[in-house]
Amino acid sequence: MVKLGMYGAAGEVTGSCYLLRTSRSTIMIDMGMHQGEREADEHNRRLPPIDPRELDAVVLTHAHLDHCGRLPMLTTRGFRGPIYCTPATAELAEIILRDSAEIQCADADRFNAKLRRSGEPQQEPLYCPPDIDPVLGLMRRVEYDAHTRISDDVHMIVSDAGHILGSGSVRLVVHDGARTFGIVFSGDIGVSGSPILRDPVTPEPADVVVMESTYGDRDHRTLEATRVELLDILTQAQSAGAKVIIPAFAIGRTQDLVFHMGEFLRRGLLTRLNVFVDSPMAVEATGLYGRYTHLHDERAHEIAASKQSPLAFPGLTYVRSAQESKRLNDARGCMVIISASGMCTGGRVVHHLYHSLGRPETHVIFVGYQGHGTLGRRLVDGQRTVRIFGDPIDVRAKIHTLGGFSAHAGQTGLLDWFAPLAGGPPRMVFLTHGEDRQRSALSAKMQERFNIRPLCPVYGEEFEL
Ligand SMILES: [Zn+2]
Repeated sequence: MVKLGMYGAAGEVTGSCYLLRTSRSTIMIDMGMHQGEREADEHNRRLPPIDPRELDAVVLTHAHLDHCGRLPMLTTRGFRGPIYCTPATAELAEIILRDSAEIQCADADRFNAKLRRSGEPQQEPLYCPPDIDPVLGLMRRVEYDAHTRISDDVHMIVSDAGHILGSGSVRLVVHDGARTFGIVFSGDIGVSGSPILRDPVTPEPADVVVMESTYGDRDHRTLEATRVELLDILTQAQSAGAKVIIPAFAIGRTQDLVFHMGEFLRRGLLTRLNVFVDSPMAVEATGLYGRYTHLHDERAHEIAASKQSPLAFPGLTYVRSAQESKRLNDARGCMVIISASGMCTGGRVVHHLYHSLGRPETHVIFVGYQGHGTLGRRLVDGQRTVRIFGDPIDVRAKIHTLGGFSAHAGQTGLLDWFAPLAGGPPRMVFLTHGEDRQRSALSAKMQERFNIRPLCPVYGEEFEL
């Protein structure tokens, strides 16, 4: 008997976690953090119904926090088995988990100070910096397309998902007595044609498919149209000598933006551009993107062959120290500042906004999803006054939203990714990692195009495969 349990990203987009139980082994696929929603902390403390010591292995699809962020909660509870992922995922996960541990600890300190004042019992942080090394020590690096035996009765093979560096779709092959069958976990599926990374590759057909549906209800604006919009804003800012602030996720989005701006210069669409990447995590991640050249796409190789770098150009500065970052607050003239966090919930970008939102010549460009209740969302929604560091700030800057730089495939991209699997056809298809509106729209399209009826599981549901 083989069972698949859904313990996260079921009807929501964060907290990815699946549990596969066969007659001889138990394997977890992703152990992500819940983010954004009000109940996130409570959901993060709710663990799948298994003693981590009994897990045979964990498979990690990619390094985003909503896929790897709770791995330390397994090791602090006794898990000592292997964590399989690609080499780039292992390196990115280290950057992300160390950062997350700092944040968990700092948040817990702040929260506990509040609890102390009201006489309530203290709360433990989810984990702390010393909990990260044991996780990293368990990582087993597997290359794309290699067959790896991960337990007595399960093999796995990873295909490039084209989402962030090292991201994968995972195909597990279960040898269940006389029966052998395949299960595909899509992980997060990237966008064909997006920069630096190769396009997503669909795994071989399988009996069961678990597929993401983040943007299952719509297509993004095209990348080309979005590039034109970006170029237009940069040109305006240049002629006005204005600042452009781009809040961006440190991993993936920042590297894409640097690439696009480099292309404007390499193709002669701009003559010069001063760009500052101001986020220590983004600087580290960009270093990794630069090192893994064998994962780059054709255009990135072409640029490298002409002795240039897809992630560097004259005028681009990677800012490390806090002093350098502060100096940018007073600097004048046209400059682009790409800084985290992507939703302006913390980090250096908040300081840049604090100093520049009041200036009508400033441009602020949002390139990613802005969650409810975040400063980013308030700005995108057009609030004229926002509170930053306790001070009311009048928003006079021009606020732009560019929708076409997403790292997730839109509806058509998801359907195209699935098409090679439809021939099987799979006995069961599960839509996860999407809100209900998105996955029911995708489900309807899949019925129409492939004549299959996907299932939309809820948290805690278990299915016999
Ligand atoms: Zn992701």
